[in-house]
Amino acid sequence: MAISYDYSQHDWGAIRPMADGTYGTMNPDKVVIHWGGGGPAAEGHAEEVAFLRSWDHFHYYTKGWDGGLAYNYGVGNTGLVYRLRGMNQSGATSGDFDGDGIPENKEALAFLWIGGLKGKPSEAAYQSMERIIRESGLDNITGHLEHKATACPGPEWMHFIAEESWVEPPWPQPASWALPAWNKALALGSINERTFPTDLMEKQAFFVFLDRLGLLDLLAQ
Ligand SMILES: [Zn+2]
Repeated sequence: MAISYDYSQHDWGAIRPMADGTYGTMNPDKVVIHWGGGGPAAEGHAEEVAFLRSWDHFHYYTKGWDGGLAYNYGVGNTGLVYRLRGMNQSGATSGDFDGDGIPENKEALAFLWIGGLKGKPSEAAYQSMERIIRESGLDNITGHLEHKATACPGPEWMHFIAEESWVEPPWPQPASWALPAWNKALALGSINERTFPTDLMEKQAFFVFLDRLGLLDLLAQ
């Protein structure tokens, strides 16, 4: 997964620029689209930078979040894409939306539109958002209001989410050596035809899996 952007954190003047991985590994399984607040959309590159800097200031100093502006990438109505936290944990989406025991802060990529309640996304913003979603390789695209009681990211983005189909057929298929096991899992309903065969499994999940099969106790004997 590589998401391209026009401006780095240094470029737009983030208080604390940081490299990917500063907050541990990030294995995102979904995108959450956000807006930045209750105001209008930023107009032009200079205003997009000013909005990002003021929200960064708010998250860093007022909220006390040492990672600063708590989204991963930002898109303006200019169509420009800004790296925010990049591939660090984002902090912008609370709770455990999909009930998998992993807080959304640790597994959701937060894409910020640099606008708010009183603004409208531009065609360029839709195109850039679509591009970074496709670059993310994720097909579970959600709006913040699906995760908690909020108006964010507004009806336009919810329409955008509903109208796009994020993965083009044919769906990715498992390698031939994996196919017999994959088909058994399909028959059991453990996965479906849209499950990505190359999705990562965490080490903690792997060892729980081995343990529940009784293998770890067996090996310890
Ligand atoms: Zn939000």
